Amino acid sequence: MSGNLFGLIRAAAPDLKRIFIATSDGRAITYGDLFDLSGRYANVLSACGVKFGDRVAVQVEKSPEAIVLYLACLRLGAVYLPLNPAYTLAELDYFIGDSEPRVVVCAPDRAGEIAPLASRLGVTATLTLGTDGVSGTLSDLAAKASANFDDAVCSSDDLAAILYTSGTTGRSKGAMLSHGNLQSNAETLVQAWRFTGRDVLLHALPIFHTHGLFVGTNVILLVGGSMIFLPKLDPDQIFRFLPQATTMMGVPTFYVRLLQDSRLTREATEHIRLFVSGSAPLLAETHAEWHTRTGHAVLERYGMTETNMNTSNPYDGERVPGSVGLALPGVEVRITDPETGQPMPRGEIGMIEVKGPNVFKGYWRMAEKTAAEFRPDGFFITGDLGLIDGKGYVSILGRGKDLVISGGFNVYPKEVESEIDALPGVDECAVVGVPHPDFGEGVTAVVTLKSGATVTEAEVLKQLSDRLAKYKQPKRVIFIDALPRNTMGKVQKNVLREQYKALYQAGG
Ligand code: AMP
Repeated sequence: MSGNLFGLIRAAAPDLKRIFIATSDGRAITYGDLFDLSGRYANVLSACGVKFGDRVAVQVEKSPEAIVLYLACLRLGAVYLPLNPAYTLAELDYFIGDSEPRVVVCAPDRAGEIAPLASRLGVTATLTLGTDGVSGTLSDLAAKASANFDDAVCSSDDLAAILYTSGTTGRSKGAMLSHGNLQSNAETLVQAWRFTGRDVLLHALPIFHTHGLFVGTNVILLVGGSMIFLPKLDPDQIFRFLPQATTMMGVPTFYVRLLQDSRLTREATEHIRLFVSGSAPLLAETHAEWHTRTGHAVLERYGMTETNMNTSNPYDGERVPGSVGLALPGVEVRITDPETGQPMPRGEIGMIEVKGPNVFKGYWRMAEKTAAEFRPDGFFITGDLGLIDGKGYVSILGRGKDLVISGGFNVYPKEVESEIDALPGVDECAVVGVPHPDFGEGVTAVVTLKSGATVTEAEVLKQLSDRLAKYKQPKRVIFIDALPRNTMGKVQKNVLREQYKALYQAGG
């Protein structure tokens, strides 16, 4: 039997009239359309020279057709390579040069700049795809192409996609994901989160990232369910379409923003069976507020581009605020000493390592980097610090590179952030380490306040003085209007470190 993920998707869609994706502007793509159009796209790509194993780089705005294009690549045995639409030409130069795709698909209004770049980098063809279902050269060619296509037979180890990591330090790396990686994780999540063909997922996430592309879309495809596509998080649209949905997946920012809206009530959400959060930490406070307002306990899970999803709070059973839950079935999670790699006892903080069929095949053309991030026994070193408690629940304390070492002591930013977040008037905060002449790194808190609140640096420091050991207390507290975040809602600590790198040098 072929290990092609598309075979499973086809088998899971019993009713071709069932809507696969409905858009907020009133378009609907059925499963019948999906199979027809993906066959056409596969024929177009094949006519452009795309063969088994070739990369197809795609930088387009969110649309159902972009998902169809992903499926066309699966059918061809080609490697889907989605790119953030926000990437500039200079960034594309790196991604296209590094991945050497056979074909690039871009938004119609960017073809003028991207086609010459792609051609210079040896790409055979540049096609375009709009968001309305008809515009772009790919749509034009698909209209004339046959819908019949013989799906590639492949092994579960063959590559299905390359997703570049967001790369906050050094060059972004291409994570190679196989058909088997995607299939195993989607099947696991379907079971863990009880997805069925009756589900309708409200989808406001981007689709160039693992969360919106694989977690959301693959889970729906493997049960023959539906999605409602919103271009981005827009509370008006969320409240307009929520009545038609059964589930929603979001990054923590979604939940924070929706909590600020008076339309978020128990009545508005009572028909929803599951709210999922991931990609960044959901504050325990947000979890609690959401529960009070709606009666729902948001289910928080943890994953990354390289590994798909690793842990999840249970569907039935306790969803612990501030924890990312238990290892998913088939996934092994352990905590090790970051220096020696030795496994550590439960309750102790160390490096989170994972192993399982969900874990990627390595970084594209970076054999040394790949080797450095795997242990000899096959565990992947995630770069996240955390602990596993007595009941098996995992908590994340931040990225290893965000650890602050002050005066020789390890300071886990999350511990300090949780104390500051709990202070009256504080909206949120990020703790970073920046160079300090005496301590190596100075613990530095960057804080945003709730509207109308007035809190001073001295007040924050005073309140922390009997809650945190001296070495964990911030040397400075800086107030700003908003924390810098990327599209997935992650706080960009590298930006803060850069911004405040001279703070202590200047005698501050
Ligand atoms: P990405 O590869 O962009 O999906 O980023 C993966 C990283 O996001 C992980 O290594 C974690 O640092 C972080 N992350 C994902 N989910 C969570 C979560 N539920 N809580 C805290 N951090 C998370």
